Amino acid sequence: MKEFSLETRIRVLMNQYDFHFQKSLGQNFLIDEGALSQIVAGADVTKEDKVLEIGPGMGFLTEKLADAAGLVMTVELDGTLCEILTKLFSEEDNVVICHGDALRLDFASMAAEGEARGFEHPFKIVANLPYYITTPLIFYFLEHREYWSEMVLMVQKEVAQRIVATASTKDYGVLTLMVQYDADSEVIFEVPASSFHPRPAVDSAVIRLTKRREPPCPVNDRKKFQSLVKAGFGQRRKTLSNALANGGLGLSKERVCALLTACGIDGKRRGETLSFEEYALLANHWASDLFS
Ligand code: SAM
Repeated sequence: MKEFSLETRIRVLMNQYDFHFQKSLGQNFLIDEGALSQIVAGADVTKEDKVLEIGPGMGFLTEKLADAAGLVMTVELDGTLCEILTKLFSEEDNVVICHGDALRLDFASMAAEGEARGFEHPFKIVANLPYYITTPLIFYFLEHREYWSEMVLMVQKEVAQRIVATASTKDYGVLTLMVQYDADSEVIFEVPASSFHPRPAVDSAVIRLTKRREPPCPVNDRKKFQSLVKAGFGQRRKTLSNALANGGLGLSKERVCALLTACGIDGKRRGETLSFEEYALLANHWASDLFS
């Protein structure tokens, strides 16, 4: 079927398997061959690589990944698509199709299976993500940072902008800072809605997240850092001292003011004006013996 256009292939497979798109599962398939190739090139995939693909759909990206990578492991939630994929890739011994929810992915056993096949490096995660769970998926991957080295992800353009945002802009937030903690991020290219079938309501962008060895500056307690960031952005219109005091940190207003004063940060500022380094300073002081 490879000689047909991707739109034709979708039509044929829909008829053959009585498949219907489920909007609720974010099923917008990328039908632009150039964009698919650019995603694979963006992850610099080689035969040394073990790739994890989330939501392979009808396998158009999977095909290109399988040509470039040593091993491609995929996780797809839709049972009919898994049936189609299993058939399509039955002859490919470097493609593994798993039926399941990527938000419950057992990274340890996926990695172990990859290792058993001779691929010991961490995964490269490459995916055209289901947009209804983009942010929880990215947080899930960040929680499992030891299992991947790089991610190349198609996301809504608006999410890409939030990831690469700078302080004091409307897009800057928890996602920006928590991605920054673990990875360098960049937008590789943008993709119009017309490149998908069915056409989504939003434009898209492909981002690359390259894992850092260390956060941009030392953070002694990741949990405290994350709690502070969440509280700092929880009430964007409030002053930082009020946002932190009401942010579920278990710190009274007096303690919050003492913390801010000790770090030389003005409590009248808004949480969205603080840099990564300033949140790190607050988290480190909060975690230290000096603040007991
Ligand atoms: N990779 C294909 C492409 O590029 O055309 C399809 C991408 S489509 C945007 C997202 C895919 O993720 C769909 O195939 C959908 O069924 C699947 N999906 C949705 N929720 C999922 C979940 N929780 N876990 C795994 N896959 C999921």
